[in-house]
Order: sequence, then structure tokens, then C-alpha cells
Amino acid sequence: MINSAKVVQNITLTHDVFELTLETKSDFSFTAGQFINVKINDGAPPCFRGYSIASKPEDNNQFRLCIKKIDGGRGSTWLQSLKNDAEITFLGPIGKLTLNPSNKKVIFVATGTGVAPFAGIIEEALLKGNNQEMALYFGLRHEKDIFYRAKFEELAQKYRNFKFNLTLSRPENPDFKGHIGRVTSMLDELTIDPENTEIFICGLKDMLQEVNSIFLGKGMKPENIHLEQYD
Ligand SMILES: Cc1cc2nc3c(=O)[nH]c(=O)nc-3n(C[C@H](O)[C@H](O)[C@H](O)COP(=O)(O)OP(=O)(O)OC[C@H]3O[C@@H](n4cnc5c(N)ncnc54)[C@H](O)[C@@H]3O)c2cc1C
Repeated sequence: MINSAKVVQNITLTHDVFELTLETKSDFSFTAGQFINVKINDGAPPCFRGYSIASKPEDNNQFRLCIKKIDGGRGSTWLQSLKNDAEITFLGPIGKLTLNPSNKKVIFVATGTGVAPFAGIIEEALLKGNNQEMALYFGLRHEKDIFYRAKFEELAQKYRNFKFNLTLSRPENPDFKGHIGRVTSMLDELTIDPENTEIFICGLKDMLQEVNSIFLGKGMKPENIHLEQYD
């Protein structure tokens, strides 16, 4: 479905991640975790880029995207340049990275902006009173790369069934108090009950493959591992 939206807000989250708030003219319904395909209208022959919706469905037809600026990348450079009221065209909502409530424990694993769909899914589930046990494992490199920490920490404080685990692989500050290491180092230590667990993984291909094989090695069936690859 072709849709259009205007930019309501474009804010900087870190040195290379920004968040766009968009508002559609007509009703826009989606399920948390889905993505849209944005037409990149930068003057060159248009192309499309996929972006996960980083918010839960709201009544006001607004939704957010959380985007990493890639040096020389057409899509992310054009989107970062957009000012309030700029119009974008997109296809969507698309995608099946969505949570079907059940009694299973849910483990979300993301690096970088791969956390975007989980921001929407987790907030939606918790606010709707879903009491499945949920844990997010979020990997970044440096302190300067951290975004959405306050949002997830607040949710983890408020909802006992949600645990937030942030790890930095290369913190600049030697006194960094959190977990240090790649996201895979936190997963290696995990004990899971494969029959009663669902896994969601989102990010770049190498991480996806590595994390997928960790969980397959722990006895997870492929049909209970949900993947969204960004590259
Ligand atoms: C279903 C889907 C959902 C997506 N959702 C998001 C999202 O919510 N946020 C987001 O930032 N990107 C997301 N992407 C990636 C996005 O579509 C673009 O690939 C990305 O913005 C780069 O496009 P570009 O035109 O700026 O650069 P290009 O010149 O097309 O790409 C440059 C390089 O950037 C790499 N790359 C792509 N995405 C990332 C990333 N997130 N982090 C690091 N390297 C990357 C690619 O491997 C490529 O080699 C998603 C992709 C898909 C398929």
C-alpha cells in the first residue's frame, strides 16, 4: 500500500543515529515490529530503503523511525536532511517481525539500530499488560553510541517481566560500569528452555548469523527464531 507522511520531528539521538517522527494524512495501522519501504526522493532516480517502525501504534497516526546515518549512503543521508513538514512517500506496513502473545519467554537481540522494531514491540506488549517474560540484549560499541537507554531502563523498572541488558564492546571510559563485550558474550552464558522460548534477532547479517547459531546450538527450533536482516 502506497502511503505518504510528513515529518513532525527530526532529532539527533547520537553522533550517527537520528529519529524521525512521521505523521500520515489518513489512518495508518500497523503491528508493532513491522517496517516501511521509503522512497528516497533525493533528486537522483528514486530508490527504496526499508526502515523498521520504532514505536507502537498510536491514535494520532504518528510513528517513529530510528536510523543510522551511513557515510555516503543515499537513504540515510536524505532522510537525515529532512526538515519539519517535508513529505515522504512509502510502501507499507510490511513484515512479520511481530509478537504473538503466548506464555513463552521472549528474548530480543539487537545491535545498533536493529533495536528499532523491538522498541515498538516491547513498549506495546508491556503497556497492554502482556506478562510474558521478556529480555532485551542490546549491543553497541562505545558510550557515545548509546541511545534509547533511558526508555528501556524505565520500562525495566516499571515492569518486572522485562529485563534490559546493554553491553558495549569497546567502551572508551575504563570505568564504564555496565557489561563489556559483544552481545554474543552475554548470550553464550544464557540457559534457556527451548520449548518455552521465542527469539527475535535484528541487525546486520554477520551478527544475525552468529546469534542464530548460538540459539540453534542451545536447542531452539528455527521456527521459533524470528530474524530481520538490515543489509
Ligand atoms: C526490513 C529492513 C528494515 C530496516 N530498518 C532499518 C532501521 O530501522 N534503521 C536503520 O538504520 N536501517 C534500517 N535498515 C537498513 C536501511 O534499509 C538501509 O540499508 C540503510 O539506511 C543504509 O541505506 P543508505 O542508502 O543510507 O546506504 P547504502 O549505500 O545503501 O548502504 C551502505 C551500507 O550500509 C550498511 N548498513 C545498512 N543498514 C545499516 C545499519 N543499520 N547499521 C550499519 N550499517 C548498515 C549496508 O550493509 C551497506 O553496506 C533496514 C533494512 C531492512 C531490509
